[in-house]
Amino acid sequence: INATPQQRICVLGATGSIGQNTLAVIAENPDAYPVYALTAYSNVAAMLELCRKHKPTIAVMVDANAATELRQQLQAEKLNIEVLSGSTALALVASSSDTDIVMAAIVGGAGLLPTMAAIEAGKRVLLANKEALVMSGQLFMDAVAEYGAELMPVDSEHNAIFQCLPPALQYPLGQQSLSDHGIDKILLTGSGGPFRELPLAELAQQTPDAACAHPNWEMGRKISVDSATMLNKGLEYIEARWLFGCQQHELDVILHPQSVIHSMVQYRDGSVIAQLGQPDMRTPIASCLAYPDRIASGVSHLDFTQLAALTFGKPEAERFPCLALAKDACWSGQWATTTLNAVNEIAVEAFLQEQIKFTDIARICAEVLAVVPPQQLNSIPEVLSLDAEARALATQQVRKQRAC
Ligand code: NAD
Ligand code: MG
Repeated sequence: INATPQQRICVLGATGSIGQNTLAVIAENPDAYPVYALTAYSNVAAMLELCRKHKPTIAVMVDANAATELRQQLQAEKLNIEVLSGSTALALVASSSDTDIVMAAIVGGAGLLPTMAAIEAGKRVLLANKEALVMSGQLFMDAVAEYGAELMPVDSEHNAIFQCLPPALQYPLGQQSLSDHGIDKILLTGSGGPFRELPLAELAQQTPDAACAHPNWEMGRKISVDSATMLNKGLEYIEARWLFGCQQHELDVILHPQSVIHSMVQYRDGSVIAQLGQPDMRTPIASCLAYPDRIASGVSHLDFTQLAALTFGKPEAERFPCLALAKDACWSGQWATTTLNAVNEIAVEAFLQEQIKFTDIARICAEVLAVVPPQQLNSIPEVLSLDAEARALATQQVRKQRAC
């Protein structure tokens, strides 16, 4: 018997929704994916639990107090796990020669540098952290090509598209023309989130809990709010542009409230290839871990006899202004997508803290985009500098709103 060689893994953002789902898939496949490192921001209880179960070599807590606490708890339980702290430790474990695979599942711009470190070390990078790609676009894809990293899309839509592509387009990803391979269009599906049918006049009063109550998916709070504004689909539109090398006419968003079809690829001859499955992230995660093989994910099969109708529609412009902002930003230039992503992160956090209304998120994004001058971003430090500037402008807008 030819045993599949073990693939050591580092999970960035291990305590989050994607991190936990990744570790659940790993637990379904004992011994195939030894855990080298787990990282989190500050949740000691969740990290301790993961350390007991998965026995990583290293655990990183970005927050220094949390690291001290974790170290004490691990010692008390006689668990021999090295604890590092600080955000530089993230890049260190992500690029270590002791790992083969890196799951990039930190939420937001904080994931950019550790994800880039994994790319520059030529790892198989499982990309959940879409914000990293949205804020750096061409620079990110250039680094993937330059360092020979193997980029695997975890986002369910992009994973679906990846599975529907001809092998010649899967590696290296994003470097070739879709039309040269007979593809006319990538069709990104989106459910429309919890407010798809809400009377428009009621949008402004929606609470964080209502925004986070996604009808089909259980996710972290930031991406849940993004799904309610459909900026998530906007970020995914930008993500798809870079991952698959799309031109503007090759990319469309379609509403599909049931989230059974995870996205589709339309070929020149009229064929449409789709990937279907339960709305459960363990499926795309398992697909990325094992590609081109298939492993157990713990997800049950779709029962087609139990499925209600699959329906489709167009996202309403008035209900989802963030989607149009993202599409515009996508083709305006890197400065625009970097700015939009940064402003959105600040606005979503302010909404979650109940400092601004749901409808203020789109307004603040549009206001900051309108005042940032178009500019070239030629390096990651330039990206990070505009990111910081946009966050400061967004914070001012949040303060203004709170003063009203
Ligand atoms: P989450 O909030 O559940 O988890 C985020 C993780 O990142 C946690 O482990 C947290 O400790 C860590 N983290 C947060 N801030 C950090 C910082 N400043 N420095 C270092 N670590 C930090 O988020 P999630 O829902 O798991 O989403 C993670 C990423 O995956 C996001 O980019 C999201 O868009 C993407 N994604 C998520 C889903 C999903 O189903 N949850 C689906 C597709 C894509
Ligand atoms: Mg998605």
